[in-house]
Amino acid sequence: MTITAPPPTTAPGPPPALPVRHEGRAGNVAGISQEEWVDLASAALGPASLDGPFEKVHVFWLAGMSCDGCSIAVLGATAPKIEDLLAGSLPGLPVLALHHTALQLEAGDAYVAPMRRAVEGTLNAPYVVVYEGSIADESLAAETGGYWSAIGEDLDPLTGELKSVPSAEWMRRLAPGAAAVIAIGTCATWGGVPAAFGNVTGSMSLMDFLGGEYRSALGLSVVNIPGCSPVGDNFTETVAAVLGFLQGIGPLPEFDELGRPAWLFSETVHRGCLRAGYYEEGVFAHQAGDRECLVEIGCWGPVVQCNITSRGAINHIGGCMNVGGACIGCTMPGFPDKFTPFYKAPPGSMVSSTISRLTGSFIRPLRKISQRDRNREVRWDETGVVPGGWGAPTKVTLVDRGMDFFYNRLRRAGSGGKTGRAG
Ligand code: SF4
Repeated sequence: MTITAPPPTTAPGPPPALPVRHEGRAGNVAGISQEEWVDLASAALGPASLDGPFEKVHVFWLAGMSCDGCSIAVLGATAPKIEDLLAGSLPGLPVLALHHTALQLEAGDAYVAPMRRAVEGTLNAPYVVVYEGSIADESLAAETGGYWSAIGEDLDPLTGELKSVPSAEWMRRLAPGAAAVIAIGTCATWGGVPAAFGNVTGSMSLMDFLGGEYRSALGLSVVNIPGCSPVGDNFTETVAAVLGFLQGIGPLPEFDELGRPAWLFSETVHRGCLRAGYYEEGVFAHQAGDRECLVEIGCWGPVVQCNITSRGAINHIGGCMNVGGACIGCTMPGFPDKFTPFYKAPPGSMVSSTISRLTGSFIRPLRKISQRDRNREVRWDETGVVPGGWGAPTKVTLVDRGMDFFYNRLRRAGSGGKTGRAG
């Protein structure tokens, strides 16, 4: 197969000629390297609005103890799209040369060659390292001559044989020179499921692996974007913000005390939840599928920092509570051990749900009265008749008129004049 570049749209000159095919790259049907493809695509698709010192930033995506759910989430991101980051079509931002095990064109030695150049300092471009999955204790696997998770091979100087290189080892090598290190997903940010009680792998988070003293080449601690899987937009938006900072066209994004993008993780799920009104009125679901607040069947939303109820899962659609799922705290450092057993009411919710039940029992009837009154046209109040055949009461009663009178007096109080025709 031959890659044919689309005609240039905004680039001033013609795109570079297609590179010659590279022989000996198993599985690389395109016949060009990932970096060459990125150069080709960006010359054809990228904007002429590049601003700042960097034209291209490499992203090395390493996977440890992972299910690849984070990769899938990022592929679905829409604001911005990963395609826009890769093509450099976001105004002012550089092109991303992404090296990802599932997307890279090359295989084998050619795959790890850019990582080797980065470690040696001959990449001639800045790079960011993204880690998906938790980092297992490779010394445990090495005891039996194996590994938990590896990318590529090195020649073992002692035995002269090829030996798999754990992704943890790549992180150790790449971290000091990286412009930024980003942990994506709860396994990488806090350890997650692979680090749960009883695991045999010694898995840990990237923060635990690199230590509290770690700073990237630009002085950043590990950036954490949690979630299992995370909202894809949370990742692409953060990457775009960090790239803007690297280009000198934006401020350093604000991160909270655990390295989370502060503007994405400072609110609780509960505050943006579609069901929060039910909680406030003390009305709760009894089983999955009910439309009310899910706290009594195990929702931890009131204490969990996550934006999925407002951002949605993909393209502002879906998201746990929006589609009937109780929040099990997957973005939090204590997940999963501090949130189990799942689907059981959190102990702290007993106090707040009891209080909202009590206040709700007063407030709901009062709201019903106001709602019934606001559901009548002013004309119907004047004529005393509600037309239509859908089942609404057809007569305006004396009680209705009395309620309307007093409610309107309260409504107008302090406003300095009449409001509305019947006011
Ligand atoms: Fe809060 Fe969960 Fe109830 Fe939504 S379902 S209102 S997040 S407790």
